[in-house]
Amino acid sequence: MIPYKNSLLDALSAAAPGFMGGRLASFNFTHGDLLCVAGDAVEHVYFPTSGLISLVVDLSGGERIEAAMIGRDGMLGAGFAFGGNVSVSTGFGQIGGSGWRMAAGDLVALARGNASVWSLLFRHEQYVLAQAQQTAACNATHPIRERMCSWLLRAHDLAPETDLYLTQEFLADILGVQRASVSLIAGTLQDAGIIQYRRGRVSILDKQALAQNACECYRALRGHRQRLFHNDTMIPAV
Ligand SMILES: [Zn+2]
Repeated sequence: MIPYKNSLLDALSAAAPGFMGGRLASFNFTHGDLLCVAGDAVEHVYFPTSGLISLVVDLSGGERIEAAMIGRDGMLGAGFAFGGNVSVSTGFGQIGGSGWRMAAGDLVALARGNASVWSLLFRHEQYVLAQAQQTAACNATHPIRERMCSWLLRAHDLAPETDLYLTQEFLADILGVQRASVSLIAGTLQDAGIIQYRRGRVSILDKQALAQNACECYRALRGHRQRLFHNDTMIPAV
C-alpha cells in the first residue's frame, strides 16, 4: 500500500487494493481557491495531504461562515459516491496545501459493490454533518474566545507541522465576528504565552493551555470522530 499521507485515502486504498493506480492526480491549492461551489456539478473529489479546506456558507450580505473543516484526515466530495450530482457545499482553500484529486466518476466506481469503502465514505460524511451541527450550536452559544481556541486547535490538529497563516480579518470572517474581537482575543492569548501572532502567522506555543481555554466543541468533535472510526491513528493526538 502506498502511503498517500491522507488517512482516509490510505484507508480507502487498503479497502480497494489496486484501484487507485492511475486514478489519482496531485493538486495544489492556495488560500481562496474554490474547489467546489454549492449548486454546481461535482467533477472531482479532493484528498488534501497538507493545508486546510473549509466548507462554508456564503450569505447574500457577503458573509462567509465556516461549517466544517477538511484536512489530511478527510476528503471533499464524498457524498458523490451516494448519488449526489451537485455539491451542497462551497469548499475553498483556507490554508494553502496540496493533495490528491480523483474524478468523481471514479469515486462512484470505487464505492460500487465495496462495503468497506461505502462504510468509510458514509462515516466520513457523518463526521462532516457532525461538524456542521456542532458549529451551528457553537456559533449560537459559546463565547468568541472559546470558539477561537477550539478553531485553532482543530486547525492545528490537521496542519501540525506548520504555522497557521491567517489574517485577523480572515479569522473574523470564518468565525462570523468583528475583526476587533479577534484582535483583542489574539492579544490576550499572546500575552498569556499561548500563541504568537505576527503578520498573519499564528504559532501555537502551548497547546494544552489552548485546550483549557477552548469550548467543549473541540473535544466533542474528537469524540465523534473516534467513535465513528474506532481508529486513534486517524486522529492526531493533542
Ligand atoms: Zn463551541
